[in-house]
Amino acid sequence: MNRFSSVLNIILLSILFIYLNISSAAEISEQTKPDSQWWKGNLHTHSFWSDGNDFPEMIVSWYAENGYNFLALSDHNILSVGDKWIEFPNRGGIIENAYQKYLAKFGLDWVETEDGIESGQKVRLKPLNEFRSLFESPGRFLLMQSEEITAQFINIPVHLNATNLYRFIAPKSGKSVREVIQNNVDAVYQQRQEIGRPILVHVNHPNFGWALTAKDIALVKNEKFFEVYNGHPAVRNYGDQDHISTEKMWDQILTHRLTNGTGEIIYGIATDDAHNYHQYQMNKSNPGRGWVMVKATHLSAESIIKAMENGNFYASTGVKVKSIEIGQTSYRIEIAPEDGTTFTTQFVGTTKKDILNLEDFDSQKENSKNDSLIGKVLAVKQGVKVQYDFNGDELYVRAKVISSKKKKNPYSENELETAWLQPIELLSK
Ligand SMILES: [Zn+2]
Ligand SMILES: [Zn+2]
Repeated sequence: MNRFSSVLNIILLSILFIYLNISSAAEISEQTKPDSQWWKGNLHTHSFWSDGNDFPEMIVSWYAENGYNFLALSDHNILSVGDKWIEFPNRGGIIENAYQKYLAKFGLDWVETEDGIESGQKVRLKPLNEFRSLFESPGRFLLMQSEEITAQFINIPVHLNATNLYRFIAPKSGKSVREVIQNNVDAVYQQRQEIGRPILVHVNHPNFGWALTAKDIALVKNEKFFEVYNGHPAVRNYGDQDHISTEKMWDQILTHRLTNGTGEIIYGIATDDAHNYHQYQMNKSNPGRGWVMVKATHLSAESIIKAMENGNFYASTGVKVKSIEIGQTSYRIEIAPEDGTTFTTQFVGTTKKDILNLEDFDSQKENSKNDSLIGKVLAVKQGVKVQYDFNGDELYVRAKVISSKKKKNPYSENELETAWLQPIELLSK
């Protein structure tokens, strides 16, 4: 073998070696590519850091022990950072009670009091960064920093949750309800741009204080999420004789945005908005009422938020969905069966034919004829495997699965477990 051919051989062998390595790397990445799976989480929770009535570690324990994979502690206009102490009188009541339970669960080595256990006058609230390692575990449980940006217009409450934010955002004001929402959404986006990490902003409980209308939300830009269900007893999810439900609002927002508005879709979230952790009853805002199930590859803030932004999640108060397939021609759902439970699925949407008959959105009043044209039930199906075939006239289609099972510790009397699946916009054919 001459020198030239041995060099050539070395080159050829090297090429083969590189090729084999590349192909085995490709095989490995194909094999180890994680599958998407469902992760359960609550994005709206209060603690002693604002007006919730328990210590954050106690609250996180509850969620971690009750099948959740992620949680955002979202106190009013504050992050769980810095040095904060709460005082409590030594004469019983919720705070004293909470302190005793906290001490029993976490012990004297963990709990910090200022004057010692005997007097028990002041207890330190641990910041998120001190307690998160007690609970976080890769692929099992994740905590995301959050804030309920609690703004207002005159005395109208405008609340938005910013999940996975990095820095505190002071609530912004504005010259109208709509402007207040927009200014706060913009503040979140500005931080998102500056720090380069995803932050999810969602509009909270629109009917709390009858604060927000569908129009207010429809006209806001870059707002892709709102609470179709909030477990706090004061939020009026179902509206009343003079106000539409949050679900009807969802249809109005979608119809407006997809016809003459921004074209942005809006997704529905369910949350607890939990404040009360000691008495479990209907007139308290307890944990465990509403949550989201997100289909994502990783249990990370990035993966969860990206999946939600792509609509890969559903909101639930109990119904478990196994799979959702939305194709060119149909919306298919498989629901997890439960013994002795039946499921009814409503496919809801607005049709292009009906849009022609709508009253002008700007002059529209609540209970106008639009209410019957917007968000119609297009089909009702029974069973755990259901399918809706698009007929081409729908502007969008979303689905709502209602179980025959009553919800435990419900938000309202006779509440049935429900899941809200996200809308899909149907492009014109
Ligand atoms: Zn609120
Ligand atoms: Zn809240």
